[in-house]
Amino acid sequence: MAEETIFSKIINREIPADIVYEDEKALAFKDINPQAPVHLLIIPKEPIATVNDVDEENAHLVGHLYVVASKLAVQYGFAKDGYRLVMNCNEHGGQTVYHIHLHLLAGKPLGWPPY
Ligand code: 5GP
Repeated sequence: MAEETIFSKIINREIPADIVYEDEKALAFKDINPQAPVHLLIIPKEPIATVNDVDEENAHLVGHLYVVASKLAVQYGFAKDGYRLVMNCNEHGGQTVYHIHLHLLAGKPLGWPPY
């Protein structure tokens, strides 16, 4: 189990967040500092610190984040135009919260590469 982070507090409703989706395994909420017109974070309720901690046992939780992303894409109406899913890992990846999260960015054509 990973250390508790600010995202555990959001899951436990100890701090507020603009939650857009929840099921037994995952939660999605608006990023507090959006980098696109739509910027959601999709997280497993079970805290996994980084992608380095994904293994055969918890991989189904990571797969589920993508299922949630595709549902949200339909719900928000950007499935056809497209969107970007990003999971940062550790310092060079730009990770700042050590509870894995899928960034869902949408609402405009996004540049590539991201630097
Ligand atoms: P990372 O840099 O780890 O890939 O992404 C962490 C993301 O979490 C950032 O985009 C940041 O804006 C967002 N974030 C950090 N703290 C909070 C918070 O308390 N609430 C919400 N909604 N987003 C947060």
